[in-house]
Amino acid sequence: MTFRILVVTGATLFFPGKAIFGQQAERLVTPFEKNENHTATYAEAIDFYKQLDARYEEMSLEEWGLTDAGLPLHVAAISLDGDFDPDSIQKKGKCILLVNNAIHPGEPDGVDATMMLFRDLLQDPAKRKLIEHTVIVAIPMYNLGGVLNRNSTTRANQNGPESYGFRGNSRNLDLNRDFIKCDSKEAQTFNQVFHYWRPDLFVDNHVSNGADYTYTMTLLATQKDKLDPILADYLVKTLWPELNTRMAEKNWPMVPYMNTNGPPETGLYGFLDLPRYSTGYAALFNCIGFMPETHMLKPFRDRVRSTYAFMETLLEVMVRDYWWVRENHDILLFDRAVLKKVDLDWEIDTTQVDSLLFKGYAAKYKPSEVTGFDRLYYDRSEPYEKNIPYYPHFKPTLSVVPPQAYIIPQGFTEVLDRLRWNGLEMYRLTSDVEIPVTQYYIRNYKDRRGPYEGHYLHYDVEVDPVERTALFRAGDVVVFTQQEEGTRFLVSVLEPQAPDSYFCWNFFDGNLDQKEYFSAYVFEDIAAEFLKEHPEVREELEALKKEDPDFASNPRRQLDWVYRHSPWYEPTHRLYPVARLLELKELPLEKEEK
Ligand SMILES: [Zn+2]
Repeated sequence: MTFRILVVTGATLFFPGKAIFGQQAERLVTPFEKNENHTATYAEAIDFYKQLDARYEEMSLEEWGLTDAGLPLHVAAISLDGDFDPDSIQKKGKCILLVNNAIHPGEPDGVDATMMLFRDLLQDPAKRKLIEHTVIVAIPMYNLGGVLNRNSTTRANQNGPESYGFRGNSRNLDLNRDFIKCDSKEAQTFNQVFHYWRPDLFVDNHVSNGADYTYTMTLLATQKDKLDPILADYLVKTLWPELNTRMAEKNWPMVPYMNTNGPPETGLYGFLDLPRYSTGYAALFNCIGFMPETHMLKPFRDRVRSTYAFMETLLEVMVRDYWWVRENHDILLFDRAVLKKVDLDWEIDTTQVDSLLFKGYAAKYKPSEVTGFDRLYYDRSEPYEKNIPYYPHFKPTLSVVPPQAYIIPQGFTEVLDRLRWNGLEMYRLTSDVEIPVTQYYIRNYKDRRGPYEGHYLHYDVEVDPVERTALFRAGDVVVFTQQEEGTRFLVSVLEPQAPDSYFCWNFFDGNLDQKEYFSAYVFEDIAAEFLKEHPEVREELEALKKEDPDFASNPRRQLDWVYRHSPWYEPTHRLYPVARLLELKELPLEKEEK
């Protein structure tokens, strides 16, 4: 790895204390600005931020927890009055914007754009005005293992830079699927960084794949129908149009992220950013998230410049709207206690179609030189401008009424750790209690056939709620849903039917299989006695035999059926161990220290 000296003159040696803004006019130059087909290496990026940090009181650079690469995650921030306490910043009515870069290190545009933006916000008086009411926080590079795994081939279709990192992290995980399950140390640290800063706005910079068209910048925003209606309304009616207009004025016109089932003219679909994705995770905490996705076929230089322009434009809009965003984020934080219903899954509402003016290239077909079959290509000599069908609306397909609290047996430490990283208040039972609760039996579920991000993800989960009296032991954990941060998150991870629940991510697989069985030759006599004492079960058995010839000819199935209807069958088979407490009760509790 080469190390570049980034400063033209001077060194941190000359800055024993941090300078006040304006005293240090020397302009730092990023590696990208020296070679516009080069993205900063890990050493170059961290060195650049360290130099800014050494020079400016308004800048902070901190090392947070570890990553799977064994290196710390850096978090940089600029706060013009030098206040880096999120509580105090928010009390002043300022907004907090969190930027994440290189989650996919083969898509490094945000790395270089953010370095230039930080430099300009600190060094350029005009840019400085953009953050008078906003504190900008950035993770310079997130997937450090991927960043260090530098090469020039794995982004097969991408137009620069000359070399870049790899999508998988040190454990070959895609970190943009890891925000809930948190297999990686990066995600574990991110959860904590996110809850330390509690951002109002979030930007996660990417580069897209897919169709060819005229736009350099495509934008994926948090799916509006997943957001609280107050924020969704602001996003759709105010923020999105404002960003579009201003970006077009800067000659970076944008379109929504190209989620298509063919060439764009066939229709553009909204993207359901489930909580496993960065913006979906942010949405659980009423934070409006954006994934700028620059177009892979546009030169790296233009992609970095448009990513810079997007973040700058977002800050410009916040000069005007910061108070609205801050105030409503606060209201939503405190109002979560009254959430009557939480939506957990959605599907595209195909009955509502919008029209989107789109500037594309004609999609054509010609024989492939590789396969001989017809292949798709986009003809750049035939640009078009026309309205295409656009389906941005989603409707909920699964909703639940949150319980007053969940009770989680203390042995599920991986689940409890994840709740802690997400800032939830938790209580421990101080003595054993036997109380009526609602629990779910897992009636049915499907599995992905192959591994997916280190898991065999469950989906299409069906549950049967049951009222039962259950024993909980001292040390088991009670988490109330009515708390300042986290109702949506709690329900999304603890309701097993939710697509990104901890159940779906395999944290409760031990509860799915049966632990005790019977020996048929012994149980025969017990079953016969049991049926004599329970003629109603015998009746049901006989009826089943009449209905189902397979069952009638299979003695093992019949005996198993009797076992499952007898008291010898374990009542916890397929019982989801997290209990729902529908009514608040006096419980012997002790609050966990955060
Ligand atoms: Zn990406």
